[in-house]
Amino acid sequence: MPTAPEHYDALIIGAGIGGLIAAAQLAQAGQRVLVVENMSFVGGRFSAFPVAGIEFASGAFHTLPHGGAGPAAQALRRAGVQMSIPSAKVIASFHVNGQHVVARTGFEVFKILPGIRDKWKMCDVLLRSWRGGSYDGSYGQWLIEQDASERVRAIFDRFCQFALSTTVYDIPFDEGREVIRAVLKYGLPGVPVGGARAVANGLHRAALRAGVTVRKNTHVDALLTQDGRVCGARLRDRRRDVVSEVRADVIISNAGPGSTHDMLRETGLNHHTLADDISPPPAVGLKVQVSSAKSLIDHDSIMFCLDTQRIAGILQVTNVDPNLSRDGRHLLISHQTIAPGADWQHERDLALEDWRYLFGDDFVDCEVVGVSHFPARFPVNWARQGHDVRTQPFADVGVWLVGDGVKPPGLMMVEGVAASAEQVAAQILGHANVTPWEKSFTQWARALPGVLWRWARQ
Ligand SMILES: Cc1cc2nc3c(=O)[nH]c(=O)nc-3n(C[C@H](O)[C@H](O)[C@H](O)COP(=O)(O)OP(=O)(O)OC[C@H]3O[C@@H](n4cnc5c(N)ncnc54)[C@H](O)[C@@H]3O)c2cc1C
Repeated sequence: MPTAPEHYDALIIGAGIGGLIAAAQLAQAGQRVLVVENMSFVGGRFSAFPVAGIEFASGAFHTLPHGGAGPAAQALRRAGVQMSIPSAKVIASFHVNGQHVVARTGFEVFKILPGIRDKWKMCDVLLRSWRGGSYDGSYGQWLIEQDASERVRAIFDRFCQFALSTTVYDIPFDEGREVIRAVLKYGLPGVPVGGARAVANGLHRAALRAGVTVRKNTHVDALLTQDGRVCGARLRDRRRDVVSEVRADVIISNAGPGSTHDMLRETGLNHHTLADDISPPPAVGLKVQVSSAKSLIDHDSIMFCLDTQRIAGILQVTNVDPNLSRDGRHLLISHQTIAPGADWQHERDLALEDWRYLFGDDFVDCEVVGVSHFPARFPVNWARQGHDVRTQPFADVGVWLVGDGVKPPGLMMVEGVAASAEQVAAQILGHANVTPWEKSFTQWARALPGVLWRWARQ
């Protein structure tokens, strides 16, 4: 006799950071949650594998854009993940005109601005961005209108290329302003001890503790519908090639707006937004991971490169956690944006020329562990910063989007991914409009049993 399909309160498509945060928070509130992940590992583009002695990042270079104070770190804590995210001791450094200039404080950034006019302009544009205001063009165009010099614009541009995989001329002014406000509010990047894999695995464990069922190596092949709503999915266990069906009250998709839209269109649901193409322009990039016996950057923050052909910045992640490279070597990661459709092999050659320019003979002794290209079909971001889908276009048919592609304004990368997941969990649980006091009380009440349990075991 055929058995009835399993039933869950929520089915989550994808165990990326967005899917796992939503899963943990819903399960903590008592919901029955199933997470289905196509790959053999969790964390999606924010994880890593041990390769040649290093933590080889699947996507992200192990960094939380706002370190221990940002929305991602807060969401991790609320999901029950305790990890150390040391604050960087240095603001940043800059490779400019063949020199490496380290800025330990915000004021030291002025060292790379030659004249008093540039220093003043930098303060002026930061202040105006912080105060607010609107402008129709890109942040880069606005800087030109403000008469910012090439050097001032280059600083913003390299920041955008490294942190957002887009240029300052492609980011809408309002979004650039919100990004600056978020940096001023939450602070600078930080690398969690253990790197991206520790974050993903920590979240996975927290989700399991809360009662979530996680199925890896399982692909959501199709969505199922009933009475004009999505009511479940057809799953394929990739290792055993077994197909099954599962039912759920809500579906949360961590698979990106474009492919969720495609899955919905295949259901034949008659829904007004399905006719529109909601694939925003992606952010495409190229990352080089290098292992070096010698330390090439002597601080724990990003070295922005103002005098290179392509590389926007480099981070020596082992300065924060030496275990990200197990054999005592240093792990450095460079990043650059590339135009969709550009010849990535040519971009790789230019990146390697940049490495040789920056480190000269020291680079000869380095090992290039990997060059990874993230094209439009597997991008750095499904939506370029500022082009995210800012509504929940499928909520009325029972499908919610979380993660990359639906980030709230101003929040970069995993910060926005985490915030979107928390917002959706709150909306589903009906907590979206609670006061901060109620929210803190609920978090405190949820954390209490764990605290008591740890205290009792000591
Ligand atoms: C080169 C690079 C560098 C980056 N650097 C940083 C950084 O330093 N800091 C930072 O914060 N962010 C960084 N990012 C961005 C960050 O990695 C992403 O924003 C984030 O990981 C996206 O998380 P997500 O949960 O939205 O999606 P994903 O990580 O893409 O997770 C989605 C998951 O869904 C699964 N899935 C999709 N479709 C299906 C299906 N049909 N069935 C089952 N499973 C499915 C996928 O396998 C995947 O595991 C970087 C990205 C890249 C590529």
